[in-house]
Amino acid sequence: MAAPVRSDGPVPPFDNSSMDGYALRASDVTSAPERLRVVGTLMAGDDPGPLTVGEGEAVRIMTGAAIPLGADAVCMVERTHAEDAWVVVEEAVRAGTNVRMAGEDIASGAEVFAAGVRLQPAHIGVLASIGVEEVVAYPRPRVGVISTGDELVNRPGPLPPGKIRDSNRPSLLARLREDGFTPLDLGLTSDEPAALTEILDKAMASCDAVLTSGGVSVGDRDFVKMVLEELGGQHARWLQVAVRPGKPFAFSVLPPRGAPVFGLPGNPVSANVSYELFARPALRLMAGHTDLDRPRLRATAQVDLRRQPDGRLHLVRVRASTSADGLLLVRPSGGQGSHQLRAFADANALAFVPDGEGAAAGDPVEIMVLDPDGLGAARE
Ligand code: AMP
Ligand code: MG
Repeated sequence: MAAPVRSDGPVPPFDNSSMDGYALRASDVTSAPERLRVVGTLMAGDDPGPLTVGEGEAVRIMTGAAIPLGADAVCMVERTHAEDAWVVVEEAVRAGTNVRMAGEDIASGAEVFAAGVRLQPAHIGVLASIGVEEVVAYPRPRVGVISTGDELVNRPGPLPPGKIRDSNRPSLLARLREDGFTPLDLGLTSDEPAALTEILDKAMASCDAVLTSGGVSVGDRDFVKMVLEELGGQHARWLQVAVRPGKPFAFSVLPPRGAPVFGLPGNPVSANVSYELFARPALRLMAGHTDLDRPRLRATAQVDLRRQPDGRLHLVRVRASTSADGLLLVRPSGGQGSHQLRAFADANALAFVPDGEGAAAGDPVEIMVLDPDGLGAARE
């Protein structure tokens, strides 16, 4: 939401019953049992009109029906029994019992949602309840995705010698969609600077941001960083980030509209981790979110998470799950090479293992949750 929403009426819109039973005057049933004369019936949706509950009277009422004039409480049907045109109330009832007051959920004129709120299913229901069909929202950033590499092919079938299939583009496109952005598939490009320039130029016409993968390392054909510098000038950055995976990273802001370009590394795990760490929070900011980062939780290593000191923070692909006694436990989800994307697919979190010798089984570790659906206790 880019602007707050107010309600121009109360929710609930009128005092109504939360039970099937009898609307009555609490002053008539300060003690029980008490016999009241039934003077009418109100179903949900009925207009109560001038129907009035007088002294010694009750109205048969269903859940959601408006409280009739004169009544100030409802006795649930289970605590009554009917006798012809009468009802016997079997327990004392206090004023307000089983009455849902108008405006109890939302007062008339109240701000219902502030700017920056993400519309989730319950929000949609609330908007419907106040009759709001249109809100002012931030547009979803349109994010182009380009894979770079002379070795990449784009199709199934036998691979020519030396070639591999492009896995970064499909996974980044899916990630963008899952994160609520609008992905735009800009295809594959060779490691030719002219081809890269052309595709980035074209991207500027349709995209609010661009992700590239590959070509930001120190290889002889790693031209993405160079092209980003040529196109972005003073805004261009080429970084060696002290993380593993995801060390090489390029960034630039391209004319004419100042669209950010995230030059992710080529190795599939590195590309996905860099997206998570650097691109996703920035794209969320562009989309108007105020909470930018994935949730971080404290977990316990289920097995040793050993490593060597190298001056870098290690992001270990882990499977986190809740043990029978409620502890969040993590273990590696598979091979930890930056080319081993399958272990990323099997992971639901990244464990932050700081520089040093790593963690031993039983040690606390901080994790960044990628998929909260997977955190629950496994079903037997
Ligand atoms: P680069 O960063 O371009 O040096 O690529 C690093 C490694 O990632 C190389 O082994 C590439 O073949 C591989 N790679 C680069 N782009 C992709 C991609 N889109 N899909 C799968 N692997 C890739
Ligand atoms: Mg490459």
